[in-house]
Amino acid sequence: MIQTEHLSKIFRTEEVETRALSDITLHVAEGEFVAIMGPSGCGKSTLLNILGLLDTPTSGRYLLAGTDVSGFRESERTRLRKGVIGFVFQSFNLIDELNVRENIELPLLYMGIKPAGRRQKVDEAMERMQIAHRVNHFPRQLSGGQQQRVAIARAVVANPRLIFADEPTGNLDSKNGLEVMNLLTGLNKAGTTIVMVTHSQHDAGFASRVINLFDGQLVAETVL
Ligand code: ADP
Ligand code: MG
Repeated sequence: MIQTEHLSKIFRTEEVETRALSDITLHVAEGEFVAIMGPSGCGKSTLLNILGLLDTPTSGRYLLAGTDVSGFRESERTRLRKGVIGFVFQSFNLIDELNVRENIELPLLYMGIKPAGRRQKVDEAMERMQIAHRVNHFPRQLSGGQQQRVAIARAVVANPRLIFADEPTGNLDSKNGLEVMNLLTGLNKAGTTIVMVTHSQHDAGFASRVINLFDGQLVAETVL
């Protein structure tokens, strides 16, 4: 499903050059649930963003479902993401001007799903994430945990084959965190491939494999 070969990422600004990822060769089979762990700044988000087609590698190859997407332009990546990839951003990326329903609805809108279908799917996702009582609220009116639940609802609403989640329980208390992990585990059991970045050993325990990054390199792998 996911295959990287000697993937590297260098961020260049005028003064500094940061090698965020070095020589990452990684394979994730369809139906796997992989957790990525490692200290802050080691490249976890960078790797997840590339796998989720939000960014491109500087060198190396990335094959997604057999297609080499390493050189894809943004428009091609966006088209490929639609309905196939759900992404939970570390910083949520909710749209301030849209309320909870409108934020969650976005992937369905991009897919061209009709209003009645959108309404039903958003209702289901809100129910699952226990955010239905905030349907008309705007992001600034929500707590961090509520915003995180909206971000997760938006990532799962279109029932994507692949979910990438960047620290999805980072802003949740242990009860809500456990609910999110149960939701992800349930989706994975139903066939969704999941790659999750986490700081939590407890959350990583829900995965089938844990990958450790250190200083941009893949240093260890544990099958659970
Ligand atoms: P993690 O998610 O593991 O905390 P990141 O992937 O966010 O780490 O960052 C890895 C390294 O790349 C860090 O040194 C970070 O400062 C740098 N970095 C990330 N994004 C950018 C960017 N857009 N421009 C420049 N440097 C970046
Ligand atoms: Mg990060």
